[in-house]
Amino acid sequence: MEYRKLGRTGLSVSAISFGGLKLDGMEQSAADYLVAKAIDGGMNYFDTAQAYGTSETLLRGAFKNYQRDKFIVSSKCMRRNIDGFKAGFEASFEALGLDYIDFYFIHDVSNAENWQRVQDENLIGFLQDMKKAGRIGHLAISTHDCKIGAEMLATGLFEVAMMAYNASNTEIESELLPLAIEKEMGVVIMKPFGGGVLTLERSRQMGFEITAEDSLRFAASKAGVSCVIPGIDKPEYLDTALKIADERPTMTDKEREAMCSGVTLRGKAYCRGCGYCLPCPKGIPIPTLLGLYNRWEVIKGVDWSIMHQIATEYTAKVPDDVTADNCIKCGACVSRCPYNLKIPELMENAAGSMRRG
Ligand code: SF4
Ligand code: SF4
Repeated sequence: MEYRKLGRTGLSVSAISFGGLKLDGMEQSAADYLVAKAIDGGMNYFDTAQAYGTSETLLRGAFKNYQRDKFIVSSKCMRRNIDGFKAGFEASFEALGLDYIDFYFIHDVSNAENWQRVQDENLIGFLQDMKKAGRIGHLAISTHDCKIGAEMLATGLFEVAMMAYNASNTEIESELLPLAIEKEMGVVIMKPFGGGVLTLERSRQMGFEITAEDSLRFAASKAGVSCVIPGIDKPEYLDTALKIADERPTMTDKEREAMCSGVTLRGKAYCRGCGYCLPCPKGIPIPTLLGLYNRWEVIKGVDWSIMHQIATEYTAKVPDDVTADNCIKCGACVSRCPYNLKIPELMENAAGSMRRG
């Protein structure tokens, strides 16, 4: 296992660490197994969040068997008003059963309005007080937006940043990552699989081929990246992560370019299936529907047999009363999407283009 400096925090984290999002809803015994296997394999950093359902509580159970110095843990709160943020912060400590959290994120600050609220409500001042009081080690910020991210990093107030990076979304390379390096920040990479698309089975459905191994290599080998945190909910995913971390991943510029040019989904305008946009008042299963539409847009007019397969899945997975043409454009989902996707527009396009079979 390779360990890397987490910026100026003084911590060293495993190059591939444990993303706790997918623990939500799991049996405690399954979470115990995964955490034990991860620690035995050399992983030492676990990320979770208030917004990840039962993830924090399951980690509490799994950590019981270990001395506190065996793991580094971060959590996050996405509430924006100070009272709500304080309550979420305390709830993290309670759920994790810890009296010290190594770094605490202000979760998903991805637009100007959100960043303004973070400042107006003095969430940073609160975290600074918590650091002085010895309850957290470091202040951290997570974002899906490079422009706002750069503004936040430029303040120099944070020691760790979490950002998305993969072969379909390399936007951080131009400004955000260089700025994090300049500020000596720890950089934690989320979404190495682009919401699951950059794995063998899913990429084949889109007409290209990228393995999960290559996606991990791609993210972990980028200069300036401290660690990558794939979401882990199956032992085989953990095996893959540990294998790549043991390899001390490297990738030449040529290999990186080849990987990027093979990806037919580029930039930010596709759904990653995270589900943050739910619930829809019309009951539309937005991630499922837009996942099908992602594939449809890539394959449309190119491969009729795959188009037929997607049309069949559309009928099987999305009942008639919650198809894309049931969207009333209320916009409730839009502000919840961390990628700022124009969901009503995508629904309209999907309704106009995607067939049912
Ligand atoms: S805009 Fe459409 S998809 Fe989004 S919440 Fe409203 S009805 Fe649902
Ligand atoms: S529309 Fe946005 S929030 Fe909803 S699942 Fe897709 S990426 Fe996530």
